[in-house]
Amino acid sequence: MIHGNVRVPTPKNELVLAYAPASRERDELKDALRRMSSERIEVPLQIGGKAVRTGRTSEVRMPHRHSHVLATVHEAEASQVEQAIDAAMQAKQEWSRTPFVERAAIFLRAAELLATRYRPILNASTMLGQSKTAHQAEIDAACESIDFLRFNVAYAERLYSEQPDSSPQIWNYMDYRPLDGFVLAVSPFNFTSIGLNLPTAPALMGNTVVYKPASTAVLSAYFVMELLREAGLPPGVINFVPGKGSAVGGAALASPELGGVHFTGSTAVFQGMWKTVGENITRYRQYPRLVGETGGKDFVFAHPSAAEDLEALAVAIVRGGYEYQGQKCSACSRVYVPESVWAKLKPRLSELIGELQVGDVADFRNFMGAVIDEASFRNVSSYIELAKKGGDAAIVAGGEADRREGWFVRPTLVQLANPRHRIMCEEIFAPLVGLYVYPDSRYLETLRECDQAAPYALTGAVFARDRKAIALAAQELRHAAGNFYVNDKPTGAVVGQQPFGGSRASGTNDKAGSLLNLVRWVSPRVIKENLAPPTAYGYPFMGAE
Ligand code: NAD
Repeated sequence: MIHGNVRVPTPKNELVLAYAPASRERDELKDALRRMSSERIEVPLQIGGKAVRTGRTSEVRMPHRHSHVLATVHEAEASQVEQAIDAAMQAKQEWSRTPFVERAAIFLRAAELLATRYRPILNASTMLGQSKTAHQAEIDAACESIDFLRFNVAYAERLYSEQPDSSPQIWNYMDYRPLDGFVLAVSPFNFTSIGLNLPTAPALMGNTVVYKPASTAVLSAYFVMELLREAGLPPGVINFVPGKGSAVGGAALASPELGGVHFTGSTAVFQGMWKTVGENITRYRQYPRLVGETGGKDFVFAHPSAAEDLEALAVAIVRGGYEYQGQKCSACSRVYVPESVWAKLKPRLSELIGELQVGDVADFRNFMGAVIDEASFRNVSSYIELAKKGGDAAIVAGGEADRREGWFVRPTLVQLANPRHRIMCEEIFAPLVGLYVYPDSRYLETLRECDQAAPYALTGAVFARDRKAIALAAQELRHAAGNFYVNDKPTGAVVGQQPFGGSRASGTNDKAGSLLNLVRWVSPRVIKENLAPPTAYGYPFMGAE
């Protein structure tokens, strides 16, 4: 028991380590990569703190060397999901009453462990299992995860301090209860930190969780669970149920105890879940909160005045479009360039793209690894084939894919004569960027085209020196992106600095890593306490006529 208005530490963004040759962090990471590459681990479910082996297994393979199996994963079916829901509901009795200081301490401890001993473990598992380079793993699995943990604790404290006014003889206060029921967290393959944030943000607010990671990211998700256990998270607070999305999702969404869904992934899957929740609405004991961050078709838009900063524009397209093989929800996947800029940008971009090395992420000279799996490889290959057919499309750079050893796709740039070509409108989620060249005189019309071309509204960037052009883009594209960048690439949002999320088909825009997100995991109760309750029922107006 603690008496005192305890304050949580003020968070600062975790520093990104460089992994330069001969650095200590590089040696530790290389060791972890060697160790994990030489073992094959078994990943069980975690229900109520107990390991559960179902015997129905799948494999995690390295995307860049698909013959190499890293882990055997036990998969949950409906009966284990029901057990996980029971375990969550049971653990909730105590967890929902655990004081904030104690809940916060567990997640702060997890951040500390991740900043030190777990850093190479989580980075290596992300590199091998999801084919991220050392830098991409560091900014995701280490830094963003640590930031989510530390900043969310500070946001929770701020939320709890938001209290109503009181009038004389009355004391009003707010009890930020967790939601009724349990929260279902379902994560995508592309960010280890999202896999950590989706279950931990609701858990921090006193909820208990059934957590399903993406099948292709189970290795890093397994180590996230190990980290949380070591940090002292009690059994049953987060129950880990890898498995087929439809099997796990179907069973969890059918439960009357469903209190909320914390999802990140594709638009189609989230819309399917929303539909199921709608169909089941009369079964639930409460209205489930639905929080989903989904797809994107993120843009870089250049104004003629960007000609003076050509190198910055080219680098933003390369980094924004091809880092992590274009598999960031925020990745630049369509570019709008005026004719006057294109003449100079084209040779420079082609040159830069030609330089990019693609290969095994354990070789630190590579800028890119492989796309996540065969389905993704086939999908992007079909768009490359479409571009090769010509017509409205012309390949400017790249266009090669090689599946022999890993799911490798060269960074590809395709110029489209039609701004509504499928490559300019559909999420491809791979290193394929579409580009449309517009007449300099049609800046406003092309901004409007950009706003309307895709159903998504996640991230976007404008490049210009002309302030009026920037203001016009910010106005015309106001609803085209939840995260808007001026003279910067549209990727790389940092917790605490650029809270992340988009609207339209990109999600509910509840801004991961912010107070706005935590608000969704509480169900406030207002308590009015009367310090001097009335002792007579009459009112003065009832006096004599
Ligand atoms: P996905 O939709 O294929 O899978 C996401 C998760 O949903 C996985 O765990 C999957 O197993 C599960 N799932 C699949 N079918 C399900 C069902 N019927 N019921 C319940 N769960 C089900 O997405 P992905 O390929 O893992 O990730 C890429 C997608 O995620 C892209 O569309 C990307 O834009 C999006 N994304 C968005 C953000 C954001 O913040 N907006 C961030 C990261 C990724």
